[in-house]
Amino acid sequence: MFLTISTTGTHERPATDLGFLLHKHPDKAQAFSTSYGTAHVLYPEASPERCTAALLLEVDPVALVRRGKGKGGKGRGGAPDQALAQYVNDRPYAASSLLAVALGNVFSSALKGQCQARPELVGQTLPLRVEVPALPARGGAELVRKLFEPLGWAVTAEPITLDERFPEWGASRYVHLVLEGEQRLSDALRHLYVLLPVLDDAKHYWVSPDEVDKLLRVGEGWLPGHPEHKLITSRYLARRWSLTREAMERIELARLAAADDSDVEEIDNAVDEDTDTEERPVALAVQRRAAIVEALRGAGASRVLDLGCGQGQLVRELLKDPRFTQIVGVDVSMRALSLAARRLRIERMGERQAERVRLLQGSLTYTDKRLKGYDAAVLSEVIEHLDLERLPALEYAVFGAARPVTVLVTTPNVEYNVRWETLPAGHVRHGDHRFEWTRAEFRTWALAVAERHGYGVEFLPVGPDDPEVGPPTQMAVFALNAAPATPVSEEKAA
Ligand code: SAH
Repeated sequence: MFLTISTTGTHERPATDLGFLLHKHPDKAQAFSTSYGTAHVLYPEASPERCTAALLLEVDPVALVRRGKGKGGKGRGGAPDQALAQYVNDRPYAASSLLAVALGNVFSSALKGQCQARPELVGQTLPLRVEVPALPARGGAELVRKLFEPLGWAVTAEPITLDERFPEWGASRYVHLVLEGEQRLSDALRHLYVLLPVLDDAKHYWVSPDEVDKLLRVGEGWLPGHPEHKLITSRYLARRWSLTREAMERIELARLAAADDSDVEEIDNAVDEDTDTEERPVALAVQRRAAIVEALRGAGASRVLDLGCGQGQLVRELLKDPRFTQIVGVDVSMRALSLAARRLRIERMGERQAERVRLLQGSLTYTDKRLKGYDAAVLSEVIEHLDLERLPALEYAVFGAARPVTVLVTTPNVEYNVRWETLPAGHVRHGDHRFEWTRAEFRTWALAVAERHGYGVEFLPVGPDDPEVGPPTQMAVFALNAAPATPVSEEKAA
């Protein structure tokens, strides 16, 4: 089984630079032994104009079976399963998951985007052409296109006839694949490394828990945004449900971070909201922070979490009042946090002031020990950024695990949207809002949360309370119910 990678070039930018990137000299044919057979790297052509590297893997089907990883193999020490299919199978010929393993072994530096001899080449895109003459593709040519096209490849996938003498037998499950595109070599290798076994969809290797780390590492930058990321993840992890779930959670986190980073960009380019009080949404943000600070004072809180703190506007507000002795901003977006640190001028703060504030990166959908033991937590305009199905995870992490005495939650009141002149009917206020609730929906959710976790809850309007549609922002104030008195705590109280 084999694949070729070709590029074109000029005298100024010779195609043979491919050899530097692959760490394999175009003038030599080299062989590497892998656990399944021998991998050869050779260059059928190597001129400044065109250069092609071929990876050819000679699979030893007997070695494959001995390693207990062949199709239907029982493994070392298992009952002897001598079915012929173990020895006579497509593995030596088709570009299966084994080819991906060989690719990872032989071109490991190139895959990681390392090139000591010519580091400047790594970031450059090249006109690349990848050819795989026999690619087992479960899902056919259509799936092949769905997997590679979103990554910027022009895809030609020709189904291979099962037997040319008997056209009526139709196509086999193999395709002849050609990919063409302007890509960085390391990206191309990382696409192939993941997608060849995904298309093969045969479980020829043991899936170990560190496979999730490997997938996320190799998929960094392209997998989270891929429209088929669910299928890719589940097939790559050989449909091992627990691993797939773990990977999906981590991918979701990466997607969130990326989405929120683009949010931050928008906010960053907008006018500074505190100075521009003409715009209604701006005035609303100011009113919201005032309402939050008021509620925190009312609750007597001094150690406060700002969960989903964004660029730290509330943190800055809280710093002005010395009653807030510990202020911790938490956000999933590193970019938001670094902007917050800059805006707060943390570097230039005096020591006492700096000791009052901390910024932490974390996701609110995972329990986090660092968030335990605070007087209050604020979730200001955060819940609507989560997919509804992730909301129970946030609920558990905040109300079940961190359990601050007071929790303030604000969210838009969707009924009010008809009052925004600039908002087309039926639209949410922000592109990243996954939902916006009516007052009744918010109450239902908040009451159920309070009930489940032993909190009492009250509702406050923020902004002008319209007689028909209510206020633009709704706020719930949760207070932890006093724990049932035990003799010990009574004694302490006395
Ligand atoms: N609290 C601020 C920012 C609201 S925007 C304010 O009231 O203006 C929503 C913020 O929630 C963003 O900064 C986003 O990065 C953060 N966020 C979204 N999902 C999150 C998650 N799962 N964990 C932590 N932060 C998250």
